Amino acid sequence: ARELDLEFRVKSDVRFDDVGGMEAVKDDIRMKIIHPLKNPELFASYGKKAGGGVLLYGPPGCGKTLLARATAGEINASFFSVGLHQVLDMYIGESESKLHKIFELARKAAPSVLFFDEIDALAADRRDMRQSAGRGIINQFLAELDGAQAENDGVLVLGATNAPWHVDGAFMRPGRFDRLIFVPPPDREARAEIAGIHGREKPLVGFDPASIAKRTEGFSGADLRAVFDQATEAALNEAMKKGSVVPITGKMLEKAAKQVKPSTRKW
Ligand code: ATP
Repeated sequence: ARELDLEFRVKSDVRFDDVGGMEAVKDDIRMKIIHPLKNPELFASYGKKAGGGVLLYGPPGCGKTLLARATAGEINASFFSVGLHQVLDMYIGESESKLHKIFELARKAAPSVLFFDEIDALAADRRDMRQSAGRGIINQFLAELDGAQAENDGVLVLGATNAPWHVDGAFMRPGRFDRLIFVPPPDREARAEIAGIHGREKPLVGFDPASIAKRTEGFSGADLRAVFDQATEAALNEAMKKGSVVPITGKMLEKAAKQVKPSTRKW
């Protein structure tokens, strides 16, 4: 259990403030997750309880993982992050047992957020997965989610996928991932906010988030981070030559924005 804990538990020091844009998504999560956990009795009077599953879907790099971490941060919950391949790439039987142990761990640590990335990897029709192994792990996963109804009180299961259409319908039944939330590519306003977040605590001059947002149509949050990483490198290279801090300029950011390719176009 200790090894699993070390492998999957992540300290979450991020909050909703660290996630740019997504106001509607954050509101959704507040109402479905955060408020019920904070006011369990009140929600119980309306037949609603905390816990259960939410599936986040949308293009890569737009903040699904970040949002899951921030959700844990908002409610001071333990955060467990599991890429499905960490569980699937094992011998038959081992995957199931590992999955079970992960759920146990999250139940013991409640309130907790248990995040599974690449949920579509569980799809039964995937050619690169042996049927038998696939079915076993799918059934195990479904059983654990149903446990989430009975004894998983205070365990919130969040899943993420870029391909919700590959996800087995059985996962979407009531009590499982019964809520589906779209995490969209950031619009211009959201991109300005994300740029502001990436620019925090960096030496910047002539930095105008609105102007960066305007030049980055189709960029994901991760693409925007790549822009800042490139510009930071440019500034650092000069700084090393000079032997003192050289600020990141608006020009460096513009140049980087031209080099990084937008990745959310087709969404
Ligand atoms: P994938 O589907 O590839 O797992 P994802 O949607 O889970 O992608 P994240 O891993 O959360 O995306 O995002 C990658 C990085 O991009 C984040 O760690 C963060 O630095 C940046 N990022 C993405 N979206 C945002 C956002 N809305 N606000 C701030 N930073 C963001």
